[in-house]
Amino acid sequence: MKKFFAFIITLALAANLYARHYTVVVSLDGFRWDYPQLYNTPFIDYMASQGVESGLIPSFPSKTFPNHYTLATGLYPDHHGIVGNDFYDSVTKESFSLSSKAAKTDSRFYGGEPVWITAQKQGLHTTVFYWPGSDVKVKGSYPDKFFKYDELPRLDYSQRIDSIIHELEKPASSRPELIMAYFDQPDASGHLYGPHNKHTRKMVAIIDSLMQNLYNRIQQLPVAADVNLIILSDHGMAWVAKEHQIRVMPYLKKEWIRKISGNVPANIYTAEGCADSVYTALSHVDHIKVWKKADIPAYLHYGSSPRVGDVVATPDVGYYIIEDTIDAGGTHGYDPELQDMHALFRAIGPDFNHVSAPHFHNVNVYALICRLLGITPAPNDGNIKETEILLKESLKSGGNS
Ligand SMILES: [Zn+2]
Repeated sequence: MKKFFAFIITLALAANLYARHYTVVVSLDGFRWDYPQLYNTPFIDYMASQGVESGLIPSFPSKTFPNHYTLATGLYPDHHGIVGNDFYDSVTKESFSLSSKAAKTDSRFYGGEPVWITAQKQGLHTTVFYWPGSDVKVKGSYPDKFFKYDELPRLDYSQRIDSIIHELEKPASSRPELIMAYFDQPDASGHLYGPHNKHTRKMVAIIDSLMQNLYNRIQQLPVAADVNLIILSDHGMAWVAKEHQIRVMPYLKKEWIRKISGNVPANIYTAEGCADSVYTALSHVDHIKVWKKADIPAYLHYGSSPRVGDVVATPDVGYYIIEDTIDAGGTHGYDPELQDMHALFRAIGPDFNHVSAPHFHNVNVYALICRLLGITPAPNDGNIKETEILLKESLKSGGNS
């Protein structure tokens, strides 16, 4: 009899060890870490009450493309190469811009190894809905299934949720172990109205109920007990008043400048030998911090890439570097350590503890997803030790599933 029980226990352990868990990662662009404290978010609160409640410290600059690609690769923007939403490469003399379809999908800009490629190389299936970088051939590959962001009409929000459910309903042999999906709200509302506004409040509530719907439908699937769901965001949002515009050109000579990319921060690519002049001219301007590339503080992990400006100017939170006039509203891109820039992190599922954990740097998300999938991560800037507190005991020692 004793033997029999031992056998059953061994079987149960083995089944648990080799059970395939599915990981669904949803990114809600610009969802500040504290929206659940400010607004009505019953589902995000439910996740906190049953699973992981934490927040993410973005990487510099706290912009959408650099941070989504950091979440996917575990590398700082300075190391994966997407150093801004707009930038210039001083070696190849080429520019990257979100407004250029060709540049945005040019693989030469994308370094590192996104988690969908790491997973694919180790035999897993992946489906990715609109995650920045997922419609780009990186290391010669795309996710198994992906969607081109610029191909219209895009799947709307409910279609994305239907499609995630549809993926999880597939037969085990073709069901993706990793599903990632991107939603561009509440970032757009945050920009238009600022983070503290009734329209943003309304959008946060809409997004929360969409996520509730996704979760409820996952719960009705045969694989429900095997699905880990992570809901996170790329950065926060801060209020910018109309009069908080900083013009830098009045301090500079045109011949010093090759190009200026971005506003928060501004990467300033200088003409040969002019970095000192630009730095000196800007170093006493109110409400900005200016660094020569080599002097950017180490905690920002920024400045080794040839795509970072020779001089980098960062406005104080709530300010904006631009020559034209601006409308009041929200923006981001500031020092990631500022709480206004922190992002959401919630997780629930068979491999997650019920825990409230301090905010952690978003370079650690890649290794966390690899651990959940039971795959070996590519070299990255994160450390699994930073997130082990979130995980069940069975996953702590580098275990399976
Ligand atoms: Zn944004």
